[in-house]
Amino acid sequence: MKTETLQVKTNEKPLNGFTIDDIGDDHLFTGLKTPLKKDAFKLSDNEKKERIAILFEEIMDVMGLDLTDDSLKGTPQRVAKMYIDEIFSGLNPKNKPKVALFDNKYQYNQMLVEKNITLYSNCEHHFVPIIGKAHVAYISSGKVIGLSKLNRIVQYYAKRPQVQERLTNQIANELKTILNTEDIAVIIDAKHLCVSSRGIKDETSSTITAFYGGAFNTPQKILELQNYINN
Ligand SMILES: [Zn+2]
Repeated sequence: MKTETLQVKTNEKPLNGFTIDDIGDDHLFTGLKTPLKKDAFKLSDNEKKERIAILFEEIMDVMGLDLTDDSLKGTPQRVAKMYIDEIFSGLNPKNKPKVALFDNKYQYNQMLVEKNITLYSNCEHHFVPIIGKAHVAYISSGKVIGLSKLNRIVQYYAKRPQVQERLTNQIANELKTILNTEDIAVIIDAKHLCVSSRGIKDETSSTITAFYGGAFNTPQKILELQNYINN
């Protein structure tokens, strides 16, 4: 896991000798936890939506958009609702999926792989989409999890402003905790629209991150997992 401690706050203040201009488009991240304020949930969801709508309206207004236009006038409310209820709903722990575990009655002791889980997230540096696939795997330590819960856990952590490295580790960490095992693997292969639609404008590259914990961290297991994913 990376332990980058650089945190970018303003244009002016040099941070560890760097300014945001020096850092540019570099994707830095500061740790496993999404950086949240202590009072992150002081406002209710409705209060947040009202506030975001006002602020987003101001952004549109500053850009010169005519908010009396029929097509635009509902946009601030739509964006606010989408942020809180949908694409950033994973910031709020109350939206964490409830997970029930079952006894491993089948005595299945090999890896279970859930592959090609649809992944939509948003880059926390540019607030544009990250689109890709997640593959998760585990070896049961006695309990098994409903398959769709694996998708839901991926989606919960994806619905935050994210960097792919943190997203990968957050999913792995959650699965480790829930399934009470180190034997977890998470692979994410995703396109970042901040790379493809702007900036360097590279449409073909994608970013792969991987976590191999416990029994997965051997060349044979990694090869076995990759064979399942690639077939
Ligand atoms: Zn970005």
